Amino acid sequence: MHKDKKRKNQSSHCSRVPASYTGVIMRTIKARLRCAYVLFVVSVGVITGAFFRPTPAFAWGGEGHRIVALIAASELAPRVKAQVETLLGGDSMADLSIWADEIKFHRHETSPWHYVDIEIDSQGYDAARDCPTGDCVVAQIERDERIASDRSLAMPVRAEALKFLIHFVGDLHQPLHCADNHDRGGNEVKVILGRRSTNLHAVWDNDVVKALGRDPDTVAVELEQQIAPQQVAQWQRGSVAEWANQSFHVAKSEIYGQLSGTGSTDAPIILDPDYARDQHTIVSEQLEKAGARLASVLNRVLR
Ligand SMILES: [Zn+2]
Repeated sequence: MHKDKKRKNQSSHCSRVPASYTGVIMRTIKARLRCAYVLFVVSVGVITGAFFRPTPAFAWGGEGHRIVALIAASELAPRVKAQVETLLGGDSMADLSIWADEIKFHRHETSPWHYVDIEIDSQGYDAARDCPTGDCVVAQIERDERIASDRSLAMPVRAEALKFLIHFVGDLHQPLHCADNHDRGGNEVKVILGRRSTNLHAVWDNDVVKALGRDPDTVAVELEQQIAPQQVAQWQRGSVAEWANQSFHVAKSEIYGQLSGTGSTDAPIILDPDYARDQHTIVSEQLEKAGARLASVLNRVLR
């Protein structure tokens, strides 16, 4: 808003008509040069912005994490809700749901905590093979559960564990965060969707979620209404490793199993233009599961 206003003032200044005496001629030339400079700076800004905007990758995009956090927040026990509010200092779970993505660029040690590479040729998660040093999403969720539940620890330490849990339980349900085909979870699989060149991982972070609806808050309400109570009870059973395995199997059969190629750089896979919309059922269920499970984790560790 403020920027638009500023630009408007500049353009009216550029078109101003000079008065007739000579001294003004020099001022007019200077003004023109200033206008040309302003236009140049604005153009450079627009061009560099378009080319160098960082690619949102490596997790459900903001929408997916927000939906998961909103579903979970509505399922918290009153006591737990109050504790979450205290720990987060009044910020909402939805607003903090991508905090873990924002900090990973300066806290590099946290990057491997967002995923686990389970080779699609395997039968499923094997801790010794897939998470030997404990630096993966499965082990990190378990670690953050212990930290968040430990009332002898300082509040900021528990608050950080809570913020990680809100994000990582979401990541665990993005199927390509639990599967790998020597392609960094689909990041190296080039695809064309509509008129865009992108990669398989980004399609599953963003496009399939955006296809559910424009407003994540509305989508969260719609998804929540679809969840049957008996379904929730069933989803909430099992360990974090079992949940990772379920995501792995979705990736193996429903994502990699449905591709028409490997998507190398010189031969990108052309996805059906309706690909994102066609994943509606799978994506809805993954987000619903993530929300219900995040609620059960928090209701357990913060009770
Ligand atoms: Zn993430």
